Amino acid sequence: MDIFIAVILFYIGAGLGSFLSVVIYRTRHEIAGIFLGRSQCSHCHKNIMAIDLIPIISYVGLQGKCRYCKEKISPMYVWIEIISGLICMLIYFKFPFMGREFSAIVPTIDSSIFFNFIRYEAVSLTLIAIFFYDLLYQEIPDIFTYVGILLALIGNMVSGNPLPQNYITGAACGAIFFELQLLISRGRWVGTGDVILGLLMGIILGWEKLIVALFIAYLMGAVFSIGLLITKKASIGSKIPFAPFLVTGTILSVLFGSQMIDWYLRVLLLA
Ligand SMILES: [Zn+2]
Repeated sequence: MDIFIAVILFYIGAGLGSFLSVVIYRTRHEIAGIFLGRSQCSHCHKNIMAIDLIPIISYVGLQGKCRYCKEKISPMYVWIEIISGLICMLIYFKFPFMGREFSAIVPTIDSSIFFNFIRYEAVSLTLIAIFFYDLLYQEIPDIFTYVGILLALIGNMVSGNPLPQNYITGAACGAIFFELQLLISRGRWVGTGDVILGLLMGIILGWEKLIVALFIAYLMGAVFSIGLLITKKASIGSKIPFAPFLVTGTILSVLFGSQMIDWYLRVLLLA
């Protein structure tokens, strides 16, 4: 039953990812009305038919090309859908809100687990938007981060987890960590967008899981950069967007942070 629900949630997540790509596109091109208006092909400007807006399936069906002008559709769109779908599914495995009783005709929903699912899904969507926006345009729109902060604060206050002292400390640590880098490098290593993202990470995670997230982000960033240098896809001076690593670290820390901290402490105690 869980697998069945997970597949449905994957597809709901993919649909939300499809919506995110509209938000990203319209934010970039400063098109008013994110929720209004029909989607158009960015090349021939023809309105896209509803049948061509089905997440993942339409892209595969059209072989990644516009129905009218045959211009290649950026694979980024389908990646946003796949990643949003996967994350929605993983959050469900972390917070399985559906009752497991097969005998019940109407499935039961545990409201507190459901709330956790919704809040981490909502925050993850803003993080995914930040991930792709930075990847595409090397910039973090403040509005995405502020929406994330608002959602994360509501989630924390309603659920009481993490505790206020924990996430306030986390937010301060996250912001100071990047603010210091901003001051030392005079804006060469990080931007103000990273400072606000650090604040958001701290609010979502609390200070312990924030450390886990930063560790994952820097480790991945280092491995990735070395990979790019070895394959000569980048040189020492190249600027690599860092928000995607911070976002990945944050989401992994939401999903597996507790286990990672437990594991680390056990290793530390045995040593
Ligand atoms: Zn077209």
